[in-house]
Amino acid sequence: MFENLSTTLDRAFKTLKGQGRITDINVAATVKEIRKALVDADVNYKVAKTVTDKIRDEAMGRKVLIAVEPGQLLVKIVHEELTQLMGGRLQDINVKGEPAVVLIAGLQGSGKTTFSGKLANYLKKQNRNVLLAACDIYRPAAIDQLKVLGQQVGVDVYAEPENKNAVQIARNAIQFAKANNKKVVIVDTAGRLAVDEQMMREIEEVKKAVQPTETLFVVDSMTGQDAVNTAKTFNDRLNFDGVVLTKLDGDTRGGAALSIRSVVDKPIKFISTGEKMEAIDLFYPERMASRILGMGDVLSLVEKAQQAFDEDEARRINQQIRKNQFNFDDFLSQLDQIKKMGNIKDLVSMIPGVSNMMKDVEIDDDAFTPIEAIIKSMTKKERANPDMIDGSRRQRIAKGSGTSIQQVNNLMKQFNDMRKMMRTMSKMGTGNEALRNIK
Ligand code: GDP
Repeated sequence: MFENLSTTLDRAFKTLKGQGRITDINVAATVKEIRKALVDADVNYKVAKTVTDKIRDEAMGRKVLIAVEPGQLLVKIVHEELTQLMGGRLQDINVKGEPAVVLIAGLQGSGKTTFSGKLANYLKKQNRNVLLAACDIYRPAAIDQLKVLGQQVGVDVYAEPENKNAVQIARNAIQFAKANNKKVVIVDTAGRLAVDEQMMREIEEVKKAVQPTETLFVVDSMTGQDAVNTAKTFNDRLNFDGVVLTKLDGDTRGGAALSIRSVVDKPIKFISTGEKMEAIDLFYPERMASRILGMGDVLSLVEKAQQAFDEDEARRINQQIRKNQFNFDDFLSQLDQIKKMGNIKDLVSMIPGVSNMMKDVEIDDDAFTPIEAIIKSMTKKERANPDMIDGSRRQRIAKGSGTSIQQVNNLMKQFNDMRKMMRTMSKMGTGNEALRNIK
């Protein structure tokens, strides 16, 4: 995400590196580069101009105040301005009400239904009793899709497959919620491929009927400037409360995140970074600015780890290590925990300094596939007692998993090295404090 923009900005900052002082000339050149980088990343031209003018004024104003390298100072200023551009601070959604109603609007394919499932999952984890309402009556598969997602995250779905009146279904869903002690109703609505009058009228009517506590506009960030225009049209009609940016895991240039806030003056509240139900994040402008500038986003990384982290399992694995019995079943369980944290490449992009280095490296969940295949081709006994896996067993495992004997040997070697390191760490009694503290 945002790779092009961070690379270009990086180059712009390098121009300033080594220059002892900020001057009119070097700032003007760098600011021009920054503006170009923003426009190339699909940021609205007017927005890019306003923000870079501010950056220039700030940089010139502070030149005598701070004795840091001009490059660093400029990074700081750009970081501050990008943060402001994206709204400054986190804005959470409002789910107060009896029940609270969250209306989901946007074009077809923007990711509304997927996001509805994710939001239900997110709110359920906060111990709220959630109901999903299927009001997309045009796309035939939409109701089924929502039902599948509801089942996946353990949230009830209200649907009337025979009814073709979205307003009625939405009203009935609220009645159902009241009667069944549901605290939040998420209303998934119909979208069209492009903005059209009938769709707009329908969603306006649904909005009037259900009086939502929160209306969220879902937009595909890959659509660049179009995303901004669509946002504007929807906002004129619906006066929505917040924006959800989806598909930020894809090859997006990031311009939408940077422009939407200033064009419609509504906060981005959530971002969506994948098809899994866990791939939803609150939108922190400051963290996003850090990510754009390749400064990493350690806070989000830690939060993701905490969410995916199963304490009981960690305790069990820790005991296995101490007893010197860490085996392939434990290894598989750890891989599962890593995968639960979401898209691997996205995680990597949150580590400071690494995102630029890794931008051409292909890593995704598939990277684990051969490893998992190898482990799953082992017998139960072999997984529990890795030492018994000799040459002929390795050959059988390679065949069974569709990998090569070298791949199996590599995995065995890495696994044995890892066990050795774990043994040394637990013998020394030092090592991983976090693990040791979990008793
Ligand atoms: P709707 O028509 O607005 O309800 O859109 P859907 O929820 O059906 O999403 C359209 C497509 O985009 C589906 O294939 C989803 O799996 C996919 N999708 C939704 N959100 C994301 C996301 O954050 N990242 C990626 N990569 N795909 C997404």
